[in-house]
Amino acid sequence: MKRYDSLIIGSGPAGLTAAMYLARFGFSIAVIEKSSSGGMLLQTGDIENYPGLPPIKGYALADAMDEQLRRYPVDYLAGQVVSLEAHGGYSRLLLDDAWLEAGTVIICSGLQHRRLGVPGEERLLGNGISHCALCDGQFFRDQVVAVVGGGNAALDESLYLSSIAEKLHLIHRRDAFRADKIYQKRILAVPNIVVHYNTIITAVHGSDFLTGITLSSPGEEDALLPVNGLFVLIGHNPAREFFPAALQTDQEGFIITDAEMRTNLPGIFAAGDIRSKLCRQIATAVGDGATAAKAAQVYLENIHV
Ligand SMILES: Cc1cc2nc3c(=O)[nH]c(=O)nc-3n(C[C@H](O)[C@H](O)[C@H](O)COP(=O)(O)OP(=O)(O)OC[C@H]3O[C@@H](n4cnc5c(N)ncnc54)[C@H](O)[C@@H]3O)c2cc1C
Repeated sequence: MKRYDSLIIGSGPAGLTAAMYLARFGFSIAVIEKSSSGGMLLQTGDIENYPGLPPIKGYALADAMDEQLRRYPVDYLAGQVVSLEAHGGYSRLLLDDAWLEAGTVIICSGLQHRRLGVPGEERLLGNGISHCALCDGQFFRDQVVAVVGGGNAALDESLYLSSIAEKLHLIHRRDAFRADKIYQKRILAVPNIVVHYNTIITAVHGSDFLTGITLSSPGEEDALLPVNGLFVLIGHNPAREFFPAALQTDQEGFIITDAEMRTNLPGIFAAGDIRSKLCRQIATAVGDGATAAKAAQVYLENIHV
């Protein structure tokens, strides 16, 4: 079994920062990523609040962080962590079907998109159903799309998509949006956006590719709406499917840490959006990553003496 001083789960801003600090401390490390290096940055448009930088595209900041890390001897391992075990003194994790061992593990797995929970959704994900307008919007040029959600992300991404699609149906389960007023005002002024309040999606249709959705509203017959694309923007959950049962989390499933990013399990640390905290941003993820790396260094050096 391959062994590292530290294994980092996730290569968003928190994971890339933790990896850079640990590599500079001279430890053997690997960063594990199930998707693409950069995490949520790849789904972000302009970032205007990262200190010291002019407005920058999410993918450009992700590239810069990734390029900086690649100057150091770090293993990048592609795959999904499906299980994590803490044994006190060392930890083991299952990456797809291979076990790896490490003195410390830093969990930086961030958030994952909430699903609608209707039959066929998983099958059509990537085949007409998406969670990211920036990534997939261009596939639907001059076509009909639907967006489901009522928060800032749903309305902001609808504004972007409405400039690409011929027509956009914005579907929200309540009678008013949760999003900031500024987004609501903008949405209502766009002529090719049709808003469906008090409406939920009860089915998605299509064998190889999405062809339509069923809309359900109180007091009305269910209606089939033909659409080429569906963007599901109804919030996020912690990416936690591999957590050990003994790992302490809050009620929503986010990891509870102390100020040094230590979890309740020895040798396991957490950083970034996966932590129970108030402010989920790039600046805080980067800070968490650096702190977790320092705490992991202290842990590794203490158990090695
Ligand atoms: C649309 C949008 C706009 C945003 N705009 C801003 C902004 O303007 N300014 C700002 O500061 N913040 C913004 N944010 C928030 C910011 O992107 C996050 O706070 C930040 O990316 C969190 O970093 P992270 O490293 O904790 O997690 P993430 O960036 O989510 O990275 C987690 C990584 O872990 C990987 N992973 C998860 N589970 C596993 C597993 N089991 N095995 C292997 N890999 C796994 C994921 O694939 C992912 O790459 C925005 C977020 C979104 C969605």
